[in-house]
Amino acid sequence: MIFQDRRKNGKLDLEALEMAMRSAMHQAGAVALSRLLQCAPPGPDQRERACSCGQTARYRELRSRRILTAVGEVELLRPYYLCSHCHNGQFPFDAELDVEGQDLSPGVRRMLAVVGSEAPFDHGRQQIELLAGLAVTTKAVERTAETIGSDIARCEQVQVDRALQLDLPIVVGEPIPILYVQMDGTGVPVVKKETAGRTGKVDGQPAHTREGKLGCAFTQTKWDADGYAIRDPDSTTYTGAIETASEFGQRIYLEAWNRGWSRAETKVVKETAPSGSGTWPPSIFPAPFRSSICFMPASTSGLWCDSSTPVTTSVRNNGFYVTSPNSMTATSKSWSAFFAPSTRQRQN
Ligand SMILES: [Zn+2]
Repeated sequence: MIFQDRRKNGKLDLEALEMAMRSAMHQAGAVALSRLLQCAPPGPDQRERACSCGQTARYRELRSRRILTAVGEVELLRPYYLCSHCHNGQFPFDAELDVEGQDLSPGVRRMLAVVGSEAPFDHGRQQIELLAGLAVTTKAVERTAETIGSDIARCEQVQVDRALQLDLPIVVGEPIPILYVQMDGTGVPVVKKETAGRTGKVDGQPAHTREGKLGCAFTQTKWDADGYAIRDPDSTTYTGAIETASEFGQRIYLEAWNRGWSRAETKVVKETAPSGSGTWPPSIFPAPFRSSICFMPASTSGLWCDSSTPVTTSVRNNGFYVTSPNSMTATSKSWSAFFAPSTRQRQN
């Protein structure tokens, strides 16, 4: 048909042609993949399987279903086992393929997770259609991104729980001269159901955002010629979540720990919540974190900053400055030793 169009107006539409060709390749791929996913009935020695109830599930028949893969919809034909004791059925082949209870193949799920984490879900659906030639629903993008997100969160939670029990492996390595930890919170616009029952900043108005808490850890080993502290290039790692302050306190402690908290000679923790907002009371942090640091209240107007921080302090690419010691309160006296080379105010 594309070639017929060409005959009509004398031009070849390459975009239409390449897209049509990709679609044809997908169809051929789906046929080939479907063939690979057709199981034969199990042999006589594979007709029984253990059931989770402790009894035995027996092979009943081959059953088919369709799943969406990177080359489009394919058919899956695989043995079905049923336990006559608890009436639970199972498809071992689905588990092997990692498509148990899923309409999407692992390859498609990976794509949806990528687009779903970058943009609104409907935008992700459009991206998948354009980039991968796959038709998925907005709901599928949302569900996949959220499932993978909660998987990641579950893994992190295991770590955070260990941090809470102070049962963390010591990270070995060179001593770190100065380890910095900074945290901040910001309103993240969310859909209505995420703010149900929450009051907004304006009285009587519903909330439109939830606070995402972000933290980072980085190191410093050098000062520049003017005596200003330089953040070690590529030394920053980040962590964050929409969660309560005390949950976040454990998370940021874990991040600090993984970055070598136990072998840092100087530890600096900086919060950037508005002064007196109570977002980061020391009580939210695990005891070892709390007791070995001196918290700088935000009212000291920026002990340091990086390019993402408003210019209460000077900003420079790839580094940070320490502001005037005058703006620090007495609590910061003990800090002066390590900030001595870098506490001059830079005028710009
Ligand atoms: Zn059973």
